Amino acid sequence: MAKMLKCMIFFTQTEGSFDEAVEGIKVVKSFNKKVRTNTCVCKQNYDQMVDIVEKAMELGVDHINISNLHTTKKAYENFHEVVPKLFDVIDYVKEAVDAVVKKGRDITLEGYVPCVLGDYSKYSIDWDENNYKLLFRDIVVDNYSTFMDNVTRKKGKPCRSCIHEENCGGLYKEYAMIYGWHEINPIEEQEEGA
Ligand code: SF4
Repeated sequence: MAKMLKCMIFFTQTEGSFDEAVEGIKVVKSFNKKVRTNTCVCKQNYDQMVDIVEKAMELGVDHINISNLHTTKKAYENFHEVVPKLFDVIDYVKEAVDAVVKKGRDITLEGYVPCVLGDYSKYSIDWDENNYKLLFRDIVVDNYSTFMDNVTRKKGKPCRSCIHEENCGGLYKEYAMIYGWHEINPIEEQEEGA
């Protein structure tokens, strides 16, 4: 809990922000309304994923979403301080998914590519069900998913032989530029049936 609290203050730069978030969730739940949380995975919190989802479930959160950190704005300016490597975090993310699934709650993953998720790709958010508009700086984006795929991500050389090439947006551009493509192993047709 202390680590979670410290992490929240690090990002919000505001004492008491964790308690305020918890209180906010409690208030919404007291009106019998649904709550969805989104946790962006960063260097400061990836090893606390299970604790974070357990806390969310304890508070009655209905839908937990875990996101690969979008490396834009402040995240890009502080890239090496906050952005972890995919292979360093993915086991923690999977462990958190297992903890939520075990309790029969809803969990989705966002921004992670199938070749990194493997079997956990089935938890990737379904954008047909969850499509919404996005206010991005001063523009309104009609389709969040298409925008993220076409504007914020890119595919690399390894993607050319991947069966997901058509429907996968690839890595966040800044991630690919700085960390490269060495974690990416295309999924070949023959592996899919294996
Ligand atoms: S298209 Fe590229 S990033 Fe997407 S799953 Fe295939 S290899 Fe991975």
